[in-house]
Amino acid sequence: MDWYRETLYTEVSQSFKVERIVHREKTDLQDLVIFENKIMGRILALDGVIQTTEGDEFFYHEMMGHVPVMAHGTARRVLIVGGGDGGLLEEVLKHKTVERVVMVEIDRYVIELSKKYLPSIAKQAFDDKRAEIAIADGAKYVAETAERFDVIMVDSTDPHGPGEVLFTAEFYGNCKRCMNPGGIMVTQNGVPFFQPDELSTTYKRLRPIYADVGFYVVPVPTYYGGFMALSWASLDAKHRQTPPAEIERRFKAAALDTKYYNSAIHQACFALPNYMLGRMT
Ligand code: SAM
Repeated sequence: MDWYRETLYTEVSQSFKVERIVHREKTDLQDLVIFENKIMGRILALDGVIQTTEGDEFFYHEMMGHVPVMAHGTARRVLIVGGGDGGLLEEVLKHKTVERVVMVEIDRYVIELSKKYLPSIAKQAFDDKRAEIAIADGAKYVAETAERFDVIMVDSTDPHGPGEVLFTAEFYGNCKRCMNPGGIMVTQNGVPFFQPDELSTTYKRLRPIYADVGFYVVPVPTYYGGFMALSWASLDAKHRQTPPAEIERRFKAAALDTKYYNSAIHQACFALPNYMLGRMT
């Protein structure tokens, strides 16, 4: 294979020159490919969709991991749904104040193959004593668990295949069930320029369930099409209004090693362009 062409959309696509196929496997759930590209490094794709790359994983994992934890201020228990490459887990565990992270990933092979072929993304996260990895459907997990979390991060594939259940009102309602008072949930919500319906659908489903609902943005090079949207759903509107000076104080106290996230980006990421605001009705 000379070029890997992503098949997320029917009318546009991006391609990556394949230096080397590192591993290809049809798991019992997804078609998994890990290949090397000269600029992006190693790339993980599932069912024809780029999931994460060594070169730009920090944009997305830092923004999904640090914005809710910094806004919450006293998050101790975090749930990650999906996230099989371990990049988000690694970012969340940078917070020494976080005591426990449960990561519920449906496809064990994504974890095993990411550990083996993408070690630079998760680094030592899977060995951290604070982390518990569960192989299960995240939708089932949140419907049944007796555990309660301060922050829930849904680092899922797009709403096709196994990821589809993670975009339903039922799932969002069960995530609320698993939250401690003042809880926050953030989810992967696609690239609104190419996936506008995903933004409006998510907004309509979250609005009746959570006190504070919105989106924040991050420009991830390989999630092309301008901004990627992460949805925000909280039981307490005060989190999104945490004063900039307090976010700055928390960021300094956390002493995070980041390449994208900082306290100014934290403020800016909630400013949305009109083409997105127009979808939040
Ligand atoms: N950052 C990527 C993105 O924005 O598309 C997501 C990366 S991560 C690899 C997505 C993970 O979600 C995959 O490992 C996939 O197996 C997992 N996943 C999909 N559906 C799931 C479900 N119902 N429960 C738990 N994990 C799921």
